[in-house]
Amino acid sequence: MAISIYPEHLTDSRKYRGRFAPSPTGALHIGSLLAAAGSYLDARFHQGEWLVRMEDLDPPREQPGAADDILRTLEAFGFEWDGKVIYQSDRLDAYQDALNELIRMGAVYGCGCTRKEIADSSIRGIDGPVYPGTCRNGLAQGRVARAWRIRVEEGEITLYDRLQGIYRQDMARDVGDFVLRRADGFFAYQLAVVVDDAWQGVTDIVRGSDLLDSTPRQMYLQKQFLAPLPRYLHLPVLVNENGEKLSKQTLAQPIFKQGQSERVEQLLIVFTCLGMAPPISLLKEDLKAVWMWAIQHYHPSHIPAKRMCSVQE
Ligand code: GLU
Repeated sequence: MAISIYPEHLTDSRKYRGRFAPSPTGALHIGSLLAAAGSYLDARFHQGEWLVRMEDLDPPREQPGAADDILRTLEAFGFEWDGKVIYQSDRLDAYQDALNELIRMGAVYGCGCTRKEIADSSIRGIDGPVYPGTCRNGLAQGRVARAWRIRVEEGEITLYDRLQGIYRQDMARDVGDFVLRRADGFFAYQLAVVVDDAWQGVTDIVRGSDLLDSTPRQMYLQKQFLAPLPRYLHLPVLVNENGEKLSKQTLAQPIFKQGQSERVEQLLIVFTCLGMAPPISLLKEDLKAVWMWAIQHYHPSHIPAKRMCSVQE
């Protein structure tokens, strides 16, 4: 299997449409602010549209009120999105249709293995255990399908990322047949993200480099659905001085609770990670002026081509 996004694809002439796609597992923190700012500025730089999509697909991991908090925080930071916010929880029929299509094509299979069985019989890949293929050729007697998995093929997938350059992954070795619908009945992020990016006509995905590993899975699904391949730019992710990703699980504080001096500090970190040096006096001004300056000064070639951007806490 050889799937790649060829360099010429990076300069095609589709009208730019980008998006920010937060999961409402907590309030917006500085790590997601960086992804929001990077995707927003890249869209405006290309005179494109910028959509916001709420990826509320995983109720057990979500926090009540987080989706609204995120949107209010984006507004408070002066972001202006195009069109209506889409909620993935309204799109379950579309994901089921997509899964049915793959079932018809014979590309997916029902898997009856429990989490423990998989953990006991798998080697570890880049994102958890590599499924050993137990149910690939049919369920053993007495077993019922708990989850749906897609069959992956041998061979490398190559991504030409706009910032990170060439990224290769041997999916069969590093990931294995991956889940599209989980045993608890929820659809997997990998399926929903591909269905929605295609449905919304997203041409450009700008997000944190922690999702680089997921991109070949998404390219593989795009190929199954014959969906156009988007361009990708994976931004450095914010890490603390110990190299740990700033996320809801670590120290990242919800930013809506903060005052002006913290806001200035956070904007400074975000802009620095995007390779920009705004005058501090500007960051104290109203946010319209900040974004006007940022839209004029952003250039994708100024972003440091690194996986991580370190902040002192
Ligand atoms: N919802 C995902 C997250 O918050 C991001 C999805 C994406 O940008 O593709 O990690």
